Order: sequence, then structure tokens, then C-alpha cells
Amino acid sequence: MNLAPLPKKYQGVERVLRVRRAAAGLGLFTEEPIEKGGFVIEYVGPILGLADIRGVKNKYLFQTNPRRFVDGSPRWNLARYINHSCVPNCEIYILRGRIYIFSCRTIQAGTELSYDYGEEYFRAFIAPLGCRCPGCVGSSVL
Ligand SMILES: [Zn+2]
Repeated sequence: MNLAPLPKKYQGVERVLRVRRAAAGLGLFTEEPIEKGGFVIEYVGPILGLADIRGVKNKYLFQTNPRRFVDGSPRWNLARYINHSCVPNCEIYILRGRIYIFSCRTIQAGTELSYDYGEEYFRAFIAPLGCRCPGCVGSSVL
């Protein structure tokens, strides 16, 4: 299956990001300030169809339409290290089968990146353990 090309204005945008220890295991941090609404990174991986995911237990499967998924589990998908937050600094846009992550506020250098994983994921994987995002543990660092 072919993906649409990355829009020109995002090509060559390479943020300085680093995987580091975070409240919820490993997290992805930005080493540079990111402006509000800025393109951060694409969530990438093999494209799977409904038949491919039968029996697959993989927390990194990201549905892009009713019959397609991006398997974000490979470690080269840096975006897989972005943790959930109920008060996120990033948000997801799905455009023609590709998954883009944009900042939804100004982000300082050294800050952990986060987005809201959505209700379904939250109920299945986060709620049973308790959410450790800054909004839920009462940290003022967003
Ligand atoms: Zn939370």
C-alpha cells in the first residue's frame, strides 16, 4: 500500500528529539523549543490491513481508517515514545493515511512531548494502572 507523500512544508523538518526516562517509563523530549502549531514528527511503521492485525496484540497499532493501521512498534519510530497526557502539548492529525504530530502549545526545550491517546486506549491500557501524566499527578510542568 502506498502512502501519500509528506507535504512539502514538513519535508526536511527534523526536530532535535531525545528518548529519556519519564514518569511513565521512557518518553520523548524535545531538545529545542517548538512553536505552537509546529510540525513535530510523523508516527511511522509498517501499514497493516484488517487481516494482518487479527490476533496481533500490539499497543502501538494506530488506526488511520476503518481498515488500515500503522504498526508503530519498531524502535525507529521515535514517535512511539511519546506518552499519553490528559493535558497534552501535542496533537495528532491523520491525513491521507499518515499520522502527523503537531504541537498544540509553545513547548520549551527539555520538555517531554505528549498527546491524548483517546478514550478507547485510555480505558483499555491507562486507566487500569492509573494515569501518570502531569495533569493527573498534579505537576505544574506541562
Ligand atoms: Zn492523565
